[in-house]
Amino acid sequence: MGALTVLGVITGLGEAIVVILVVAIASDRLRGDLPLLGSLPDGTWARAALALAVVVVLAASHLGSAWVTARTAAESQQTVRGLLLDAYLRAGAQAQARERTGQLQELVMTGATQVALGTQQAARALTMSFNLVVVVSAAVLVSVWATLGLVAVAVLSVLVVRPFRARTRRMARESAEASSVLATDVTEAATLAPELRVAGVVGAARARLEERVLAARRLFESVHLSAGAVPALMRDVTIAVVIVAVATVASSGEVSLPALGASVLLLLRALSFAQGLSGISAQMQERAANVERIRGFLDRWDASARPDGTRRCARVRRVALRSVSYTYPGGASAALSDVSLALEPGEQIGLVGRTGAGKSTLALVALGLIVPDAGEVLVDDAPLTELRGADWQRRIAWVPQEPRLLTGTARENIHFLREGVRDEAVRVAAEAAGLGPELAAWPDGLDHHVGPGGAALSLGQRQRIVLARALAGEPDLLVLDEPTSALDVHTEVAVRDAIAELRGRTTVVTIAHRLSTLDACDRVAVVDGGRLVALGAPADLAARDSFYREALTLSGLRP
Ligand code: ATP
Ligand code: MG
Repeated sequence: MGALTVLGVITGLGEAIVVILVVAIASDRLRGDLPLLGSLPDGTWARAALALAVVVVLAASHLGSAWVTARTAAESQQTVRGLLLDAYLRAGAQAQARERTGQLQELVMTGATQVALGTQQAARALTMSFNLVVVVSAAVLVSVWATLGLVAVAVLSVLVVRPFRARTRRMARESAEASSVLATDVTEAATLAPELRVAGVVGAARARLEERVLAARRLFESVHLSAGAVPALMRDVTIAVVIVAVATVASSGEVSLPALGASVLLLLRALSFAQGLSGISAQMQERAANVERIRGFLDRWDASARPDGTRRCARVRRVALRSVSYTYPGGASAALSDVSLALEPGEQIGLVGRTGAGKSTLALVALGLIVPDAGEVLVDDAPLTELRGADWQRRIAWVPQEPRLLTGTARENIHFLREGVRDEAVRVAAEAAGLGPELAAWPDGLDHHVGPGGAALSLGQRQRIVLARALAGEPDLLVLDEPTSALDVHTEVAVRDAIAELRGRTTVVTIAHRLSTLDACDRVAVVDGGRLVALGAPADLAARDSFYREALTLSGLRP
C-alpha cells in the first residue's frame, strides 16, 4: 500500500512534468508563463533531454507499480485459497457433505482468481487516484480555469454513473451465483458421463446444462453492458466538457497559449485517469460480490468446525455411545434414536440391519465425524469432544462404505500422508488386506499407480487398499463399513482372517450385509429404524432375534 502510494505520486508527477516539458519544448515563450517552469533550462534539446530523463524514471516507476500489483494480487489469491482450504477441511463432516460436488474446487479456482483480479484492480485504482491527484494539482498550478473544468467533469461523471451502480452490483452478485451453479453442474455431468450415456439421457443432461449456460450468459451480458456503457458515456461527457472548457479559456483571453496547451493536455490526462477509475470501479463491484460470496462460505464452514479438545489420549480402550440421537439436516426422521452401545477393548462387534437402518450413521458418530444432537460418545469415560483431535485420530481408523483413493501409487494411498507409518507397516498391511496377488502381478509392486482417484483399479482392489490404509495405522478402534462387499469369497476369507487376527489388540466394528463376514464376531448388534433392537453373541441372536434369524436363513447359512 505504501509502495503503491509512493509510486502513484511519482508516476503522477512524472506525467505532469512530461506534459509541461513537451509544451515547453514546443514553445519558446514559456518562461514566466507557467509557474512550474520558472527554473527550467533554456534550449529545446536541454528540455528534451530532461523530458527523456523523466520518462526513464516514469518507466521505472511503472515497472515498479506493475511488480507490486502483480505480487499483491498473487498473494491475495494464495491467501484466499489457503483460507478456503483450511475452512473446508476443518468444517464439520455434515457441513462438508452438504456442499454441492465441485463447490470447493470452483471457489478455490475461479473464486480465488476473481479475488486476485479484484486486488489487482484495487491496486491499479490506488495508483491511478494518486496520479489523478498529482495531475490535478499540477493543473491548478498551471491554470485555475483548467481545474474548474476538471471539477465540472468529476461532478458530471459521478452523476452519470450513480444510477448504474446499484444495478451493476445486484447483477454481479447474481452472475457470480449463476457461474458457481454452472461450474458445479458441469463437474457433476463430467463425473456422471458414463452413467448418462448408458441411460441414454446425454441429450437431456445437455439441455439441463444449456439452461444454466443461458442463465449465466444473460447475467454476464447485463453486467458487462453496465460495465462497458459507463466508461463510454463518461467519454462522451468528457469530450463535451473539454470543448466547453477550451472555448471558455480561449475566449477569456487571459491565459497564454502555452498555459492553455499545458492545461488542456493535463486535463485530458486527468480525465483518462478518471475514466480508468470509473471503469475499474464498475468491475470491482462485480469482484466485491464474489468476495461477499466467498465470505459466506468461509463463515458457514468456520461456524461448523468443532473446537478441538485439550485432554490427551495416548490409547483408546472403551468407547461408549450413550443415548445417542441424530437427525440429518432436512432428514424426514431420526437416523439414530436413543442408541446406547459400549464397545469393549479388543472385542469384535458386528452391526447388521436393513439398508437405511442407520448403521453407517452409527459408525460416523462413533468415529466423531458426526456430533449427535443428543447423547454423547465417551472414550474411556471422557467425552469424545474433550479429547485432542490429533490424539484421537491417531488411534482410530475407518474403511468407509465407498472406498476413495488419492491419485498416486498404492504405497501413497496406504501410507496416506501419515507421519509415523513406516514403510514396513505399509507392506505388512497390504499383505494382510489381501493385496498379495496384486503386489505380485504389478511390475512396480506397491509403487503401482492407481489412476485418477483410483479409477485404474477394480472396486475390490480399491476396497483392499483402503483396508490396508486402516491396518497400517495400527489403530485401537477400527470401523469397517462393508469392507468386503466387493470381494470374491476366497479373498473375503483371507481378509476376514486378517481382521480376526486383531482380536484383543484392536476394537473392531464391522458393518455387513453378508452375515458370513460376521462369523468371527464376539457380539452382533441389530439396528432397525435408527434404534438398537438386539445385541448379543451370534448364537444367542440366532435363537432370539427374528431379523437375524431370517437373515441367516436367507443367506443359506443356518436357521
Ligand atoms: P446401508 O446398509 O444402505 O448402507 P445404513 O444402515 O448404513 O444403510 P445410513 O447411511 O446410516 O444407513 O442412513 C440412515 C438414514 O439416514 C437413512 O434413512 C438415510 O436416508 C438417512 N441419511 C443418510 N445420510 C444422509 C444425509 N447425508 N442426509 C440426510 N439423510 C441421510
Ligand atoms: Mg451404510
